Amino acid sequence: MYIYPDARSVVRDLSPDEPVILNRPHAAARAGRFFAEKFPGKALYAVKANPSPELIEVLWASGITHFDVASIAEVRTVRSLLPEATLCFMHPVKTASAIREAYFEHGVRTFSLDTMEELEKIVQATKTVDGTPAADLRLCVRLRVSSDYSELSLASKFGIDLADAAPLLQATRQVADWLGLCFHVGSQAMTPFAYVQALDRVRAAVAEAGVVIDIVDVGGGFPSIYPGMEPPPLEDYFAIIHRHFEALPIAYNAELWCEPGRALCAEYSSLVVKVEKRRGDELFINDGAYGALFDAAHVGWRFPVRLLTGEQSAGEQEFAFYGPTCDDADYMEGPFMLPSNVAAGDHIEIGMLGAYGCAMRTAFNGFGRGEVVKVADEPMASLYRGDRPDPRQSDNVVSLR
Ligand SMILES: *Cc1c(COP(=O)(O)O)cnc(C)c1O
Repeated sequence: MYIYPDARSVVRDLSPDEPVILNRPHAAARAGRFFAEKFPGKALYAVKANPSPELIEVLWASGITHFDVASIAEVRTVRSLLPEATLCFMHPVKTASAIREAYFEHGVRTFSLDTMEELEKIVQATKTVDGTPAADLRLCVRLRVSSDYSELSLASKFGIDLADAAPLLQATRQVADWLGLCFHVGSQAMTPFAYVQALDRVRAAVAEAGVVIDIVDVGGGFPSIYPGMEPPPLEDYFAIIHRHFEALPIAYNAELWCEPGRALCAEYSSLVVKVEKRRGDELFINDGAYGALFDAAHVGWRFPVRLLTGEQSAGEQEFAFYGPTCDDADYMEGPFMLPSNVAAGDHIEIGMLGAYGCAMRTAFNGFGRGEVVKVADEPMASLYRGDRPDPRQSDNVVSLR
């Protein structure tokens, strides 16, 4: 497949009327190598952030061998691409048939849970026809932790409260070959302290239950860079997590795991959109809330943007975007900074859409088609290029050192 040098050359070649996804396999590979080499344990890719087969293969080739899957469809997708990969079914609420198929047909041994009912379901679904219970289950109890240090909360839906965890940990220990504790601090955790408070809760849960723990899985939440959200270096997260993991009262050979989604794929994709109409400081573009810009519409996420066509001479000003559907909610407040002479017919590149962006497009209202191409240039921002000014000097992050 042809690799374009950059977004401008895509627009010159295709003059696209539909949005075009630009993928950067080199950026995803760099992120994969970073986690594979620097995280002091195993890094599982959380497939829901972007289940594209090309991306999954790039991550595998860059050293990511374990995958966090949350549905039977994700199990099948990853297994069909990667027969050798280790798949971990980390959704705490699964159907019995999904558990059975994952265990018997796809070799899945690791499952998460946060209730006695789910534990019982896993035990029943993994028994052989003659009723022999599985002896090789790796079961991770999901603990509820605070999302206070993250941009997107994951604190209310899943996880058992610390106060109720001991009986579930003890019951799970009875049937598990490996017993794990896992949690999720929420997505885009802007300080490593998010993991410190969660690991403190792990410590308390282990002490209360008095069980041997084989896996501590610190989940996802590792950040990427967006306008107004410049996190500390990921090395700081890794060092602090490692230090607090080492101090836990757990088996001497216990494994440390993490489940990055966003951090592994945010830099993978950007999107070229066309301006269909300008009304003052509002631009009507051809992708939006039902396309790759769900987070821009629903949680006011500001993605980086740049003008690809027209005169670049003008000064910049703030713009809001409307998406293409007929829904008023298809609106992205931004602000997005663009040259003040941007006009209908211009093309814009929107960056950092590899995580929870290009993967979430729908065909609502007949929009959402468009080409996918590869480009060779750098993503609009990167945590992995090694050329950032020291972000600990910026004032929007909490520094722990
Ligand atoms: C969504 C999810 C992840 C990935 O989270 P990021 O914030 O994208 O890193 C990891 N683990 C579980 C269980 C998840 O639901």
